[in-house]
Amino acid sequence: MNPTDLTAVEIREQIASGSLSSYDVTRAFVERTDRLEPKVRAFLSRTSEKALARAKELDERQARGKSTGKLHGVPMAIKDIISVRGTPCTCGSRMLEGYVPPYNATAIDRLLAEGAVLVGKCNLDEFAMGSSTENSAFHPTSNPWDLGCVPGGSSGGSAAAVAAREVPAALGTDTGGSVRQPAALCGVTGLKPTYGRVSRYGLVAFASSLDQIGPLTRSVEDAALLLGVMAGHDPLDATSATEPTEDYLELLKQDVSKLRVGIPRELPTEGLDSDVLDCYHSAIETLEGMGVEAVEIDLPTSSHAVACYYLISTSEASSNLARYDGVRYGLQAGDAQDLQQLYRQTREEGFGAEVKRRIMLGTYVLSAGYYDAYYVKAQKVRTLIARDFHQAFERVDAVALPTTPTPAFELGEKLEDPLQMYLSDIFTITANLVGIPGISVPAGFSGAGLPIGLQLLGKHFTEGTILRIAHAFEQATDVANRRPPI
Ligand code: GLN
Repeated sequence: MNPTDLTAVEIREQIASGSLSSYDVTRAFVERTDRLEPKVRAFLSRTSEKALARAKELDERQARGKSTGKLHGVPMAIKDIISVRGTPCTCGSRMLEGYVPPYNATAIDRLLAEGAVLVGKCNLDEFAMGSSTENSAFHPTSNPWDLGCVPGGSSGGSAAAVAAREVPAALGTDTGGSVRQPAALCGVTGLKPTYGRVSRYGLVAFASSLDQIGPLTRSVEDAALLLGVMAGHDPLDATSATEPTEDYLELLKQDVSKLRVGIPRELPTEGLDSDVLDCYHSAIETLEGMGVEAVEIDLPTSSHAVACYYLISTSEASSNLARYDGVRYGLQAGDAQDLQQLYRQTREEGFGAEVKRRIMLGTYVLSAGYYDAYYVKAQKVRTLIARDFHQAFERVDAVALPTTPTPAFELGEKLEDPLQMYLSDIFTITANLVGIPGISVPAGFSGAGLPIGLQLLGKHFTEGTILRIAHAFEQATDVANRRPPI
C-alpha cells in the first residue's frame, strides 16, 4: 500500500502498529509533491527537510516507548495565512513577503502537540480575499481534476494539495466559504467550525467576526479527527468559545436515521448549474435512503447574504489591514520622503487590486456619511438572516444546500468580473454571517468529470451532527474514493 493513498486516521494506525514509519510516510508524500508540484503549484513554501527531520524524531520517540499522539506522523500542509513559527507567512501578498512569524497559531501548537508533521504553506487568494486562488500575488494553483481549472479559493492551495494527495490533510480558513468552496471544487471534504470553536490566535485577520480555521481532508473521519485536536477554549483568543468540545470521531458511529434535514423551498437559481442542481437532488434522495427525513424550510432573507457579507467583511478588512503601514511588518517602500508617503507607497506597492478594492469599499461603508446606510443596515440584515436559521433549526437538525453554484471554472474565466466571483459563495456565506458550522462533502461529478459538493449546515456547536450525517452520506456513496486523473 502506497502511504500517499492513506487517510490521516489510517496513517496514524499504521504507524502506531509499526507497519509504517513516520519517516517513510513523510518521505512518500514529499516525493509525490516533488513530482506533482510543477503542475499543481499548491504550495508557496515547502519545509521538506524540517519535516523529514521531525518525522525521524517522531520515530525515535516511538522507539523509546513514548506514547504516540492523535496525529503521530501525519504530514500536513497549512494555508499561508496561519502563523507557523520560523516559516514565512505571506498571506499570498507582496506586503508580507519576507515576514517570518515568531510564534505559532494555537491551532498549529495543538496539531504539533499531537505529532503532526508540517510539510509547507499553501497558496491562497491575497489575504484570503477571493474564490479561485488567482488573487495570489505569487502564482495561480491548478485544480488536480483539470489543470486548466481553478481549485476554488481562497484556500485553493490547501484543497488542491489534499486532492492531489500531496498531503493527507491541510488547514484552510473560511470567512465566507473559503474552506467549503475549494473543498467542493477539488472533490475533498472541508469543515468550517462554529465561530469561536477553533482559536483564531495566530490566524492573520481578514474579517474578524467571520474568520474560522477549518480542516480539508479526504474523509469525513479525518475532518472529525482534526477538529477534535484543534477545538476548545483558548485564553489567547477573546472570541474563543468555552463551550465543551465533543469526541467527534466517536459521534460518527451514531445512527443518523430519524435526523431531520432542512431543504430550502427556494434556491437562488441565477447562475445555478444544472449538473449541480441534479447532484443536489440525488444527494437528498441518498439522505432519505439513509433514513434521514427531508423537511422543507424557508430561508427568505438568504438572498441578501452576499450583499450583507461584502459590506461587513470589507469594513472589517479595511480596519484589520490598516496595520500594514511599512513600519511593523514585511514590505517597506524604499524611497519615501516622509511618513505619509511611506504609508502610501508601501500600501500602493504591497497590496494587489482585489485587496485595494476591498479596503476602499470598507472605508466607504464605515465613513461618517454612509455608516448608518450601509454598515448598520448590513448588521441588521445579518440579524434577520440569523433569525431565519434559528427558526429553521427549531424544526430540523441540519440544513442541506449545494456548496457552490457551479463546478470548477476555468483559470481566468471570472478574473475580470469581481461580481461573478463574489457569487461563487452564494451558498456558503450565510454560515459565516450566522456563525454556524458547515461542511462540504463530495457528492458527485459534472458531465465534464469535475467534482461537486454537498453542504450541510448545523446549529451552533453541533459539528458532531453534521459530521455524522456527512460521514453516513460518504459511506452511502462512492464519490470520495474517486481519484483525480493527475
Ligand atoms: N470568496 C469570499 C471572499 O472573497 C470568501 C473568502 C473567504 O472565505 N476567505 O471574501
